[in-house]
This record gives sequence, C-alpha cells and structure tokens, in this order.
Amino acid sequence: MAAADIHHRTPEFRALYQRVLIQLKDFVGTKNDVILISSSGTGAMEAAVSNLTSPGDRVLVLTAGKFGERWVSLAKAFGCQVETLSAPYGETFSIEEVRAKLKPDVKAVFMQATETSTGARHCVQSVAALTKEADALLVVDAITGLGTTQFDVDGWGIDVIIGGSQKAVMIPPGLAYCAVSDRAWQRMETTKNPRYYFDLRKERKSAAKGESAYTPAVALIAALGAAFDYIAAGAGGDIVAGRDALIHNAEVVAEMTRAAVQAFGLKLFAPTAPAAAVTAVYAPERTDSGAIVKGFKEQFAGVIANGQGEMKGQLFRIAHLGFFDYLDTIAMIGGLEHVLQPILGRDLLGVGLKAAQQVYAKRRGTSLTQLLESDHRCSCGRPMAECSPTLAVVGA
Ligand SMILES: *Cc1c(COP(=O)(O)O)cnc(C)c1O
Repeated sequence: MAAADIHHRTPEFRALYQRVLIQLKDFVGTKNDVILISSSGTGAMEAAVSNLTSPGDRVLVLTAGKFGERWVSLAKAFGCQVETLSAPYGETFSIEEVRAKLKPDVKAVFMQATETSTGARHCVQSVAALTKEADALLVVDAITGLGTTQFDVDGWGIDVIIGGSQKAVMIPPGLAYCAVSDRAWQRMETTKNPRYYFDLRKERKSAAKGESAYTPAVALIAALGAAFDYIAAGAGGDIVAGRDALIHNAEVVAEMTRAAVQAFGLKLFAPTAPAAAVTAVYAPERTDSGAIVKGFKEQFAGVIANGQGEMKGQLFRIAHLGFFDYLDTIAMIGGLEHVLQPILGRDLLGVGLKAAQQVYAKRRGTSLTQLLESDHRCSCGRPMAECSPTLAVVGA
C-alpha cells in the first residue's frame, strides 16, 4: 500500500485496476461486470438500492439481524414500499414464507448471505430459485459471505452480490465491490431514484477504460491485488482454487469452533443454520459477554466481538474471515479455555481443543465439494430436506 503512490489517470494505474477487476470476477465467481467503489460495504448496499429502485417500488427485505435491518432503513430512505420477512435473531427464513411474500409486484428482494450480527447463514440458493422465475431482482449482501461461503452467482441468478475489503480478503476497510447481472443493468435504465457518486452505470463505463469515475482508493486497490495474489499463491497461482481453499478453511475452522464451544457446554446463537463467516455464542448464564471479550483481550491481546445492538452483553462472536487457519483457531480455543474456566467454574483445559481437533481430523484432506456435500447439506448448511429438495447440492 505504501508503494502505491500512483496517479490514477496513468497507464500504471489502468494496468493495476484492470488486473484487479479481472481477479475480482474470478474471486466472486461470475462473468458479470464487477464494480469497485471507494466506500465501506454499506456504500455498495446503498448503490444497489439507489440504482435499482424507484420511489414507491415494492421491495421485500429478508431480515434477521442488524444487517437485515440496514436493508430496511436503506430501502425506506429511498422511498421504497418495504415489505419485510423477519426471522428471530439467530434464525433463518423458511423458504415457503419467502415464496408467500414474493408477490408479483415485488421489484427486488434484499437479503444477507451471512448475517454477521447473529452468525446465521441464509439460503441464497433457494431464494434465487424463486426470484429467477419472478420479476424481482435478487440483491445479496455477501460482505462476510464472499470468501467464506460458496455461491454459484451466475448459475443461481444472483443479480447483485456485494463484498467489502475488510472481511475475507483481509485488507483494511474502504473498498466495496458488487457484481451486477444483465437483468440489473437493464433495470437501471428505467429506475428513478437519485444517484450520483454511486451511479453504477458511470463506474461501469469508466471501468471499461481501466479507470474509476472519481479518484479511487489507489492504495487499497493495490492491497486488494496483493491479497488476491496471496490467495492465488496458496493454490499454485489459481485464484479460483485459492478462493475455494479460503472457503474450505472457513467452513472447517467454523465447525471446529462450534464443536469447541459446545464441548464447553455453551450454546450457539444460530444453531440451525450456522455461517462459516462467524460463530456467535451465548455467554454463560448470568455472565455478561463483555467480560469474555475483555478477558480475551487482556490475557491474549486477541479480539473477539461482543453482540451488536440489543444482543450486546448476550453473546460473543468469533470471526473466520480470511486465513485464520487451524493453528490460529486452536490458539484461540486454547485461550478461551483459560478465560472461560473461572467463569464456568469447571476444568475446561483441553476440552474444546479435543473437540476441535476431532473435527479437523475428520475434515482434513477433503475437497470443498466433499466438505459441502457431507451429511447431504444444502449450500446454506441446513439438511437438504429442510430446503427445497429440488436444489442441487453445491458443486455436485
Ligand atoms: C461488515 C458488514 C457490512 C458492511 O458494513 P460497513 O461497515 O459499511 O463496511 C454489511 N453487511 C454485513 C453482513 C457485514 O458483515
């Protein structure tokens, strides 16, 4: 990043930008144009709403946490008539309920792939199967989903999928990106909501010439390119294989973490459809989760997160974004044993570690496809029987 003092209207920058945009397409796994914007993730969420809706449009938001609520606020801010399908925090939606809410006049459906505030995973694949046949565009906030969760963006028909730089691509905050389908580009020609800085069509035009519409976050773009090189380097230079390794890693360390905290006798906050992006855990009874967050920081200078909003104090969250690998996860679980032992008043040493190691021993050497197919799970993590039985298993 420090070396990236390149002027943005030069051949050097154009070469960098074009290279990163190609890497981004491979990372997202799409043939659609990917737009990069200099903002945090919410900027791309706002762009999706402002570019794809008109005041008065009926839209459906699937909400089960703080980020779902952000879609509600954004869509209201742009004058949409917002229908919501809510699930309690920690849970996901029933596909039958989504089907029932998806009336013919719904213009767009907004959802999260992974609800970072609760640790739940939502089944993008089964919602996409509904929107593909409808007029409604599907907009997915996959800010913690990309790089932790497998998607078939074009095959499923996701119209907009959004990512951010500070999550699984492991660089500082400040960049957002989104892949946009042909259907969504067409919709933008007729929608009426105001947009200027976040006009995706303007960015698309500039990107075709290797530039961004306004001064981009040059250093972050250089960092993103370096992150993709790093991800690819772990898989012989193949970015798609590197991304799959990143997802495989997240799935395995998330499963290790779930096994460990359950071995401590703690409860998962999102047990039915847990995300690979983050594991949310209820604090023990009569314990403020802030004490665990604080203890972990004081003893190990490590960061685990408290709950957001009304969930503050109730739960703590452990991220699996980027290459937090086996050794990092084992160290984190070992540290948690020391922090939780006096709180739970039981001998915990080695208890979570053993459970986590058993998961690793079972999953080691599996391919991503084998991992996702194990126990015949849907891409959302739930047993296939709970999702539409007509859905293909990821990678099958
Ligand atoms: C981090 C995150 C965001 C983006 O938030 P910003 O602070 O704007 O980057 C949005 N949705 C989800 C699910 C997230 O995890």
